[in-house]
Amino acid sequence: MTVSTQKETFGFQAEIKQLLDLMIHSLYSNKEIFLRELISNASDAADKLRFEALSDDALFEDSPELKIFIDVNKDARTITIRDNGIGMDREEVMENIGTIAKSGTRQFFKNLTGDQAKDSQLIGQFGVGFYSCFIIADKVTLCTRKAGMGAEHGVCWESGGDGQYSLENVERSQRGTEITLHLKEEEDELLEDWKVQSIVKKYSDHIMIPVTMNKSVTDEESKETTIEEETVNSTQALWTRSKGDIKDEEYNEFYKHIAHDFEDPMLHMHNRVEGNLEYTSLLFIPQRAPFDLWDRQNIHGIKLYVRRVFIMDDAEHLLPPYLRFMRGVIDSADLPLNVSREILQNNKQIEKIRNGAVKKVLGSLESLLKNEPEKYATFWEQFGKVLKEGILDDTSNRERIAKLLRFSTTHDEVEASAIGLTDYVERMKEGQDKIFYITAESFAAAKNSPHLEIFRKKGIEVILLHEQIDEWLVTHLTEFDGKQLQSITKGDLDLGDLEDEEEKKQAEKVSEELKPFAERLKTALEAQVQDVKITHRLTSSPACLVADQNAMDASLERMLQASGQSLPASKPVLEINPEHALIKHIQGESDEGQFNEWANILFEQSQLSEGGQLDDPAAFVARVNNMFLKAA
Ligand code: ADP
Ligand code: MG
Repeated sequence: MTVSTQKETFGFQAEIKQLLDLMIHSLYSNKEIFLRELISNASDAADKLRFEALSDDALFEDSPELKIFIDVNKDARTITIRDNGIGMDREEVMENIGTIAKSGTRQFFKNLTGDQAKDSQLIGQFGVGFYSCFIIADKVTLCTRKAGMGAEHGVCWESGGDGQYSLENVERSQRGTEITLHLKEEEDELLEDWKVQSIVKKYSDHIMIPVTMNKSVTDEESKETTIEEETVNSTQALWTRSKGDIKDEEYNEFYKHIAHDFEDPMLHMHNRVEGNLEYTSLLFIPQRAPFDLWDRQNIHGIKLYVRRVFIMDDAEHLLPPYLRFMRGVIDSADLPLNVSREILQNNKQIEKIRNGAVKKVLGSLESLLKNEPEKYATFWEQFGKVLKEGILDDTSNRERIAKLLRFSTTHDEVEASAIGLTDYVERMKEGQDKIFYITAESFAAAKNSPHLEIFRKKGIEVILLHEQIDEWLVTHLTEFDGKQLQSITKGDLDLGDLEDEEEKKQAEKVSEELKPFAERLKTALEAQVQDVKITHRLTSSPACLVADQNAMDASLERMLQASGQSLPASKPVLEINPEHALIKHIQGESDEGQFNEWANILFEQSQLSEGGQLDDPAAFVARVNNMFLKAA
């Protein structure tokens, strides 16, 4: 078969040009990383081939020994990186090189400000591996042929990084990918063998297949020069070495390879388990949350190895979804090499490994919290929302996860959550037997809720929950350290021993006196409320709404309604503050029509003050304006 060699030209996806400019600017001072990225990709390609060859040995063709070869050509001013990994077919080249299909791409570009100094911090999160070669090259040629396909399926891609690329079908007997970088004028230093070698040693020593380079050897006697291929990296799996011998930089470079990240990790945990079940885990927490962190389906952080042979990515069975921010490898000594996804699903060993790994991660987070609270705060800011899912997902570790949660409370009144339940419990008042919380749509709404008035007056701390997941959190976390979690917007307020007898008696007396007034209000608001009670929750607001102890939280209800779910109407209780001047004023209102107006205003302003929306805002405005005019 003859191959059509006609060259076709295509435009890059619009964003790529922008990305390239940003990358060249922001990564120039660290330009050596282009080699790390290309070797990382070549190593991934070898892993993929090995994995697919498990079920189809023929893919190895006639070269089962996987390796990466780097050739430096001073005359042509090029560096070539060649692998004999999986390779790509034409479509894959178009998809992988020239398009960015990563989830979160659009979000990334939305976040760009145009201020390069600011934007360059974002680039690390994005992971732009291949394109980094345009930092040092003004032309890049990539020729590749997919494993298992005939030589006529080769394809060459070429671009000057200027917004377009060309594609050409070629004959290619060799499997895998070869990338030739035509260096920019000022990059001559990269044409020195020793320089390239030192870059490989520095960033890619942990790569497990050999990275080789040519070396000229001159025979002492004959003075004849021959070329020998020399392996530059150590080819040893990093995690098999003992912890004490591994430098932080080595862990960091290894992390960047497996996580496709440009930044160092926040933390690593390296752990060997021996005995009945043998495995090693080397896990990392990234510095920053990736763009697709919210996608519970997109779990790809942990690579599974069996006796140092890469088995698969996306091993979602190795850590639960609430730890999906973790990156790393788990190497099992016991699983069979031909383990498949199906086998993993119900495998007892995998289950044990996962349980062990989860315990290890929680343990590391506990020590981080204890020993480096500031670092933990950064961790929490990045990944706290995801960790919260653990309360819902992982009942067996609920208590441990609960201790790791951080909240805003009335103690510090700051939005950045920094207070743990243990701190809260330590500060509980004499006689306090519950952990009080309020949920609201925003921090401001929570912090300013009238429900907090009595708690502030008595100096009782209340947890201010304001993230969407909190609504679910409290339905699962009902108790901590033997203390019940209690919403302050639900049910009768029972402060137990926190109220003194004198206050209680006084409150009962007032309640009794105002009963007829409460009844009158209840009749006026029959359609909106299930009851009207005299409250002692409030000190400065005239009224507030309280849900049934077992009812859904008002903010959860609004959330579900917003998502289009129809809910059975649950009527709240209106609680009124007998000390408030407005309440005193309304009591004296003899005109029934006027009284009705007041009742509605009370109800509607109570809805508003907890962040709710009015059914008929215009009617509320009209009512209030009428009252103003009467007073004027
Ligand atoms: P990432 O490695 O994070 O996916 P890159 O920009 O480094 O992003 O690479 C993009 C994609 O191009 C890779 O995911 C892979 O599918 C493909 N690719 C790059 N280099 C190679 C290679 N040497 N062999 C096979 N595929 C490659
Ligand atoms: Mg890459």
